[in-house]
Amino acid sequence: KKFVYMFNEGNSSMKELLGGKGANLAEMTSIGLPVPFGFTISTESCNAYYDAGKKISPDVQEQILQALARLEQTTEKRLGDPSNPLLVSVRSGAVFSMPGMMDTILNLGMNDETVEGMAKLTNNPRFAYDSYRRFIQMFSDVVLDVDVFFFEQLLEEYREKHGYTSDPELSAEDWQEVIAGYKKIVKDRTRKEFPQEPKEQLFLAINSVFDSWNNQRAIVYRRLNKIPDHLGTAVNIQSMVFGNTGNESGTGVAFTRNPSTGENVLYGEYLINAQGEDVVAGIRTPQPIATLENEMPEVFQQFAETCHLLEQHYHDMQDIEFTVERGKLFILQTRTGKRTAQAAIRIAVEMVEEGIIDKKTALLRVDPDQLNQLLHRRIDESYPRNQLAKGLPASPGAATGAVVFDADEAEQLGNDGKRVILVRPETTPDDIHGIIAAQAVVTSRGGMTSHAAVVARGMGKACICGCEALKIDLREKQFRIGDTVVNHGDMITIDGATGEIMLGEIPMIEPQLSEEFQLLLAWADEARKLGVRANADNPEDAKKAFEFGAGGIGLCRTEHMFMDAKRVPIVQKMILASNLEERESALAELLPMQQGDFEGIFEAMQGFPVTIRLLDPPLHEFLPDKEELLVEVTKLQILDPSSTELMEKEQLLKKVRQLDEFNPMLGHRGCRLGMIYPEIYEMQAEAIFYAIANLADRGLEVKPEIMIPLVGHVNELKEMRQLVIDAALQVQEETGKEFDYLIGTMIEIPRAALTADQIAEEADFFSFGTNDLTQTTFGYSRDDAEGKFLQAYIENKVLPENPFAVLDQDGVGKLVETGVKLGRATKPYLKTGICGEHGGEKSSIEFCYVTGLDYVSCSPYRVPLARLAAAQATI
Ligand code: ADP
Ligand code: MG
Ligand code: MG
Repeated sequence: KKFVYMFNEGNSSMKELLGGKGANLAEMTSIGLPVPFGFTISTESCNAYYDAGKKISPDVQEQILQALARLEQTTEKRLGDPSNPLLVSVRSGAVFSMPGMMDTILNLGMNDETVEGMAKLTNNPRFAYDSYRRFIQMFSDVVLDVDVFFFEQLLEEYREKHGYTSDPELSAEDWQEVIAGYKKIVKDRTRKEFPQEPKEQLFLAINSVFDSWNNQRAIVYRRLNKIPDHLGTAVNIQSMVFGNTGNESGTGVAFTRNPSTGENVLYGEYLINAQGEDVVAGIRTPQPIATLENEMPEVFQQFAETCHLLEQHYHDMQDIEFTVERGKLFILQTRTGKRTAQAAIRIAVEMVEEGIIDKKTALLRVDPDQLNQLLHRRIDESYPRNQLAKGLPASPGAATGAVVFDADEAEQLGNDGKRVILVRPETTPDDIHGIIAAQAVVTSRGGMTSHAAVVARGMGKACICGCEALKIDLREKQFRIGDTVVNHGDMITIDGATGEIMLGEIPMIEPQLSEEFQLLLAWADEARKLGVRANADNPEDAKKAFEFGAGGIGLCRTEHMFMDAKRVPIVQKMILASNLEERESALAELLPMQQGDFEGIFEAMQGFPVTIRLLDPPLHEFLPDKEELLVEVTKLQILDPSSTELMEKEQLLKKVRQLDEFNPMLGHRGCRLGMIYPEIYEMQAEAIFYAIANLADRGLEVKPEIMIPLVGHVNELKEMRQLVIDAALQVQEETGKEFDYLIGTMIEIPRAALTADQIAEEADFFSFGTNDLTQTTFGYSRDDAEGKFLQAYIENKVLPENPFAVLDQDGVGKLVETGVKLGRATKPYLKTGICGEHGGEKSSIEFCYVTGLDYVSCSPYRVPLARLAAAQATI
C-alpha cells in the first residue's frame, strides 16, 4: 500500500489522504507554482501509527526513506551532508485546517557539522547559526518537550546583556554563543545531548507530528468545530527555503481579499529577514503587504499574480503563506480563507461579477446562520469587554442601557427616550410593553424559547435568558453577580449573540444591509421555490418584514394587540364581564383598536397576503398574577376594609381563581375560546373585515387569511368557519363592499395532523404551528422543559438538538408530512406553510421545502436568512 506521495503525485482532490496542506501543495506543484519540493506521508499512516501503538511500521519507514532519496536527487542536496546539506520542514496537515493546533518543525537536518557547511556554502555564517538556533528551539519544544520559555529567557538575557533590541542585530558570533547555551539547556533538561543524526531527527519529528494530532488543544479544537477524531493528520516533508538570509529575504502571509470587509485587495503582512512563525509570533511588528510593492517591486508583482492565479484556480478567496529567499518567491501554503459574514457576501457577489463563480455557487458560499451578525447592532470589537456574567444567548444583537426591574418603568423611561435594559427573574405577557420600550431584556430564569426570548427575537431585540449567576433583588432594586452589585439605573451592556453581560457602556455599530447583500438575496429569490413570510403582530414589525423582503405575513398574533398597556384594562373588563351584554360592550370598545392595527399591517404589506390568527392564549394571561393579587387584597383587608378598591380586587381575585388551570397550555385556549365565547372571535373577524372595507375605499386591495388556532377536531373548525363567514357577510352588507378572504387553520395538535383530510374540508389553508406541535408531540411543556431537563438531554445526546429550535424531522416532521399529504388528498391545491420558530432555522427550512410546503414564516429579522436558506435548499 502506498503511504507516501511526492508533491508531484497528488492533487487538491486528495485532501482526505494527504490532508488539506499536502493536497494543496501537490496541486500548486502541478500547476507550476514555485513550491519547494517534498513529499507527504498520508493520514492513513497516522492511523496506522496509532493502531500499531504509536509506531511507524517498517513498510512506512521504507517508503519515507525512498521518498527522501528522491527529494535528495531532485534538490541535489543530501540530508546531513556538510558539503551540501538538505534541510527540510516537517509540517502537520489535517484534512480540515486546524491552524496552529498541531506542530511544525523547520530547518531539520541541522547539526554541528551541517551548520558549518551552510555557513561556508552561503557565505553567510550569521544566517546559518540563526537557522540552527531556531531549529534547536523548535525541535526541543515539539519533540523533546523542553519548554520554549527556557530558550526565550536565555535569548532575552543575552540581548539585554549586549544592549540589542531586536534579533537581526545579533551577529554570527552572538548566535554561536546562544547555540551553546541552548544545547546546555537541552542537556540539563533531558539529560541527553541534542540529537545530531539527521535521520533520527526526521523520524522523531514525524512521530511528534502524529502525536500532536492528540494534543489537548487539537482535541478541543476538533470538538468545537465538530471534526471527527479518527481522521488523523498527514505529515509534509518539504525542502527548506529561507526568509532569514538577510534583507533581500523575508516571509509573510496574505489573503487574496480582505477577510473582514471582502474588499478585493491583497490583505496581509510580512517581515524582512525572518522565518516561519516570526510573523504571527508578535516578536517583531510585521509590515502591511502593500509596502512590499516598494521594497521588492518584482517580487510583489509576482506574488500578486500568483494570488490572482490561485483565486482563479480555486474559485475562492485564498489564505496564502509565502517566503522570499534572496529575491525569489516561494509559495508554502494555500487554503480557503476564513471570513466574516460581511466579507463572505461581498466576495461571493463580486466573484460572480468577475466571472469566477456562478450565482448558485455564490449562494452556497454564505452560511445563513452567519447573517445574524449583520442584522443586529453589534458591539464595536475595538473596545475591551469587562464581562460580569454569561447567560444563554437568546436573541442576538447588542444593547446598552440603564438597568430597570419593572416593565411599567421601562415603558415610561423608554417613552421618554431613555435607553433601558429590562432585568427580570423571568417575563410574562404582562411585561410586553416594557420589552417593547427597552433596548434589551435579561432574565435570570428561562431558556432559549422562553417568553422573553421568543418575544425579543420577534422584535429583533437583544436578549439574554437563564443567567443563573444573576441574583435579582426586586425589593432593593438591584442585582448581584458574585461580589458586584449593580443598582437600578446603572449602565450595563449586553451581547445577545454571546450571552455576555458587561458593566458600563460600550460603543455600538449599526446594522447595514449592503448593496451586495441585497443583490445576493435577489439571486436567492430567483432560485428559491419556497415562499418566505414573516411573523409580525404590529405595523412596525410588518414594515421591517417588508423591508427585509417578506412576501407576506404568515402569522399575526392578535393577542399581542390586546397586551398594549392602554388596552389591558378594557380586555380585563371583557373577561370579567358577568353577562353577555357587558362583554359585548367591552368588545365594542376593543373593535376599533384592533381594526386600526389591522389597517396598519395591511398597509405596510402593500397587498401581500396577511395571515391573522384569532385569539389564542388562555384568558388568565391578561389578568394580574394570582399571588400578587392575593397580597394586595390581604393588605387592603387590614388597612381599608370597606373600600371599593378592595371590593373590586376581591372580584378580580375570584375571577382569576376561576380561570386558573392546571395545564394552561392544554386548557381553555385557542379555538376553544371562540367556541365558548363566540363574541370574541366575532369581534375580531369584524375588525378585520371593517379594516379591509376601509382600505378598499383608499384603493388598497387586501387578501386576509383568517386562521383558527388549536383545532383538534373538524367540527371546531366547521363552527368557527361559519362564524367568520357570517361576520364577513354582515360587514359586506353593512358597507356594500365585496372582498375576498381565506379561512384556514393551524395544525398544531397531533390529532389535527392525523385527521387533516377531514379538516381540509373546512380549510382553505394549513399553517403548521410547530412550536405547539412540538410541545404536544413530545408532551413537553415548552416553558418548563428547557430549564428542567432539556439541556441535560441535549448534553447527554438523548436528543440530537433542541426540538424547539431545530425541527424534529423524525417525529414532529412526520406529522407535518402526514398533514400535508392528507390535506392535499382532500384539496390538491391546499396552501400550506409553517409559522413556528422553525421557520427561521436553516435545516428546518430545507425540510419544509422537501415536504412541499408553500412557504415558511419567521421573525422579520430572520427573513433574509430564510430567503437564503430556501434558495440553498433548491440547489
Ligand atoms: P501551520 O499549519 O501552523 O500554519 P505550517 O506547516 O504552515 O504550520 O508552517 C508554519 C510556517 O513555517 C509556514 O507558514 C512557513 O512560513 C514556515 N515553513 C514551513 N515549511 C517551510 C519551508 N519548507 N520553507 C520555509 N518555511 C517553511
Ligand atoms: Mg501554515
Ligand atoms: Mg399555538
